[in-house]
Amino acid sequence: MKFAITSKGDQKSNTLMHKMRSYLIDFQLEYDEEQPDIVISVGGDGTLLYAFHRYRSRLDKTAFVGVHTGHLGFYADWTPDEIEKLVIAIAKTPYQIIEYPLLEVIVRFSNGGREKKYLALNESTVKSVEGTLVMDVEIKGQHFETFRGDGLCVSTPSGSTAYNKALGGAILHPSINAIQLAEMASINNRVFRTVGSPLILPSHHTCMLKSVKQVDFIVTVDHLQILHKEVKSIQFRVADERVRFARFRPFPFWKRVHDSFISEG
Ligand code: NAD
Repeated sequence: MKFAITSKGDQKSNTLMHKMRSYLIDFQLEYDEEQPDIVISVGGDGTLLYAFHRYRSRLDKTAFVGVHTGHLGFYADWTPDEIEKLVIAIAKTPYQIIEYPLLEVIVRFSNGGREKKYLALNESTVKSVEGTLVMDVEIKGQHFETFRGDGLCVSTPSGSTAYNKALGGAILHPSINAIQLAEMASINNRVFRTVGSPLILPSHHTCMLKSVKQVDFIVTVDHLQILHKEVKSIQFRVADERVRFARFRPFPFWKRVHDSFISEG
């Protein structure tokens, strides 16, 4: 089996990375940064997001596992003092693969430029470059509302505990093949109206944001922030691709939610 390790880059994460690497090589596993079967991320959720994007082109062949060197992460759930256990589990046991849904984002341009496609593990947000964001929201090909406000956030179920949660979105179990649209400070008065509640869309429904007046937008995809100019529309749907996590022990999603937001232990 071939493995790669990505580190957050701080001293603690780098030391753990080197330790795990030499232990795994001792167990006859091959270090291969280009074509790993398993990617170990050492750091936090942000490190796993980075690893996900680094290996985005081979999601069907790669499984991820996360070690946290700070606080308990959603994707990074192994602690530094468990790495011997983790190394043995990787080397000796056939692991279970858990698949979670991803978000597909397609940005289309009015100047005839080639569309851009992204995959998000957590979410994608759209904000204006200047002033209030104004966009038409279409759901399944039908005009739904004209949004005015700070921005819109479309998240995956596993990303529902991240930015989406801070926006008052629901926490979705990742076995639900859906995406969630949440508002950021919408303007609601007698003139302007949005639904005001987060919406959960099934995999066969598409959400399309269409330019009204503005054409330049800041689109985030997880930790990445990209300025897009001359935008005609931004389309969101559940992706065909899925992310695969290697599971060596049960760690139910709701326990993860409890330990992250209520109390650890
Ligand atoms: P960061 O360093 O600002 O960390 C963001 C925090 O989000 C970290 O504590 C991380 O553990 C946590 N996090 C990440 N994914 C999570 C998940 N799926 N469930 C629960 N918590 C999660 O930024 P970063 O490390 O580069 O991560 C980027 C992420 O930050 C984005 O995908 C977005 O979800 C999140 N974010 C959150 C807010 C907010 O809550 N107001 C604002 C901006 C970005």
